[in-house]
Amino acid sequence: MKHQLESVLQSNFNLKKFRTGQQEIIEAVLQKKDVIAMLPTGGGKSLCYQLPGYLLKGPILIISPLLSLMEDQVEQIKQRGEKNVIALNSTISVHKRKQILMYLKKYRYIYASPEILQFDYVMEALAKANISLFVVDEAHCISQWGHDFRPDYSKLGELRKKLNNPSCLALTATATKQVLEDIQYILRLNRDVKTFIYSINRPNIALSVEKHQSIDEKISRLQQLVHTLKGPGIIYCSSRIWTERLAQFLIDSGIEQVAFYHGGMDQEQRILIQQQFLYDQLKIVCCTNAFGMGINKGNIRYVIHFHFPSQLESYMQEIGRAGRDGNKSVAITLVTDKDYEIPKSLVESEFPSYEDLSRTIHYLQNKHEPSFEFIQQWCGLTETQWRYVEHVYEKLTSHDMDTEQIISVIWEEIEKRIAMKHEKLSEMYTWLYSKGCKRQKLLAYFDEIYVDQTDNCCDNCGIDLECYHEEQNSNSGIQQMNWQEELKLIFGKASD
Ligand code: ADP
Ligand code: MG
Repeated sequence: MKHQLESVLQSNFNLKKFRTGQQEIIEAVLQKKDVIAMLPTGGGKSLCYQLPGYLLKGPILIISPLLSLMEDQVEQIKQRGEKNVIALNSTISVHKRKQILMYLKKYRYIYASPEILQFDYVMEALAKANISLFVVDEAHCISQWGHDFRPDYSKLGELRKKLNNPSCLALTATATKQVLEDIQYILRLNRDVKTFIYSINRPNIALSVEKHQSIDEKISRLQQLVHTLKGPGIIYCSSRIWTERLAQFLIDSGIEQVAFYHGGMDQEQRILIQQQFLYDQLKIVCCTNAFGMGINKGNIRYVIHFHFPSQLESYMQEIGRAGRDGNKSVAITLVTDKDYEIPKSLVESEFPSYEDLSRTIHYLQNKHEPSFEFIQQWCGLTETQWRYVEHVYEKLTSHDMDTEQIISVIWEEIEKRIAMKHEKLSEMYTWLYSKGCKRQKLLAYFDEIYVDQTDNCCDNCGIDLECYHEEQNSNSGIQQMNWQEELKLIFGKASD
């Protein structure tokens, strides 16, 4: 078996050796076990389902949470010479979709968004295609306790059953014990489930937290860092407006190849920025957490958090985008002691107020066809709030409850969730201000014991930031010109 796997690895992927965990995971998949696997970001999770694609009979279905991520994966597979891959998502016209669905069997890999699986005709076609493996990528999205809950993910267990119950592979880089349990429960993994958990430590990423007095101080520090650190880099902030503001600050201070990215931009623009960043046409992206999930760019040298995320799971995912090539990289978080308020109110804004909830449920109970536009306008819900309410409401409709009961059950649930999120935020905050080895504490949060002490571990153990500086005189370095030099350049050209 080992020999056979290695020869597929060589011939189809042009790779020599398996990385930690890959072979064990692939073997279990080939034995048709249900598998949950946790490998670090950049650890090579995609190979764990892509390689079995050459050994199992029938297409592999991969559920992926983001459109841009799906496009990117499909592109990479095509680049290595595999043409039998398709992405099913809402951007494909219904006409084209139906065409694809007629010939589903011919694909080796079928990527699908969870939303597209809600269509019966898609499910029927998939059921006929004889899916050999049901892959859930970024599986932590399944759990409401996770940091990136997608209500649509919670139906995947049921949908898998409808596809003649193929075996399942759930992949993630950040799951606490509770989230792992949820993944198993929601996907209804019951056949002799194999769980593979490997160290999610990323020893090549130094962890630095810098305390500052004010927001202005953070901005000037950010400019300074971006001027000196070797890129490319990602800068995370907590709101759309801040991504735009910071990008402008950086441009004003003479930095080039900067863009911003957030969920309020249209799909095309977002895909463009992601592609430009992937292909090194952009050096820095100021973004919200909408950017970067699953992004496979090896040479990201730093991740700066201008605002810190609301839980350690998100932090781990976000910093994990640095240094996937294994080279040294740095994660820097800039904090002031007033920063706690932002994520706190963000957490609260994920859920509707009692009044908005009540208005929405009354509306839904009157048996209108729910329209998001109406709910947004008249009940005051944001899209995130609506997705959540819709999800819990759907679960309750089969119970015999009156309107007031439904409201109070949902409200109770909301209060519980807010409390849980506050708790996670406070763990994040405690970590930022903690004494002692930060890496050890971060890993302990994921029940991992930190053993191999590394150089440039964390700010408490000591980091030499100069290791991460751009080398002087390098071509890619950002060099600032003074006005005399700039004039010389202009007149020099003019007199040619
Ligand atoms: P993630 O675990 O974050 O999903 P990916 O599957 O995107 O990671 O893989 C990250 C990178 O590692 C990819 O460029 C992939 O080609 C590379 N990779 C995966 N497995 C191996 C291997 N066995 N040897 C060398 N490179 C690998
Ligand atoms: Mg991945």
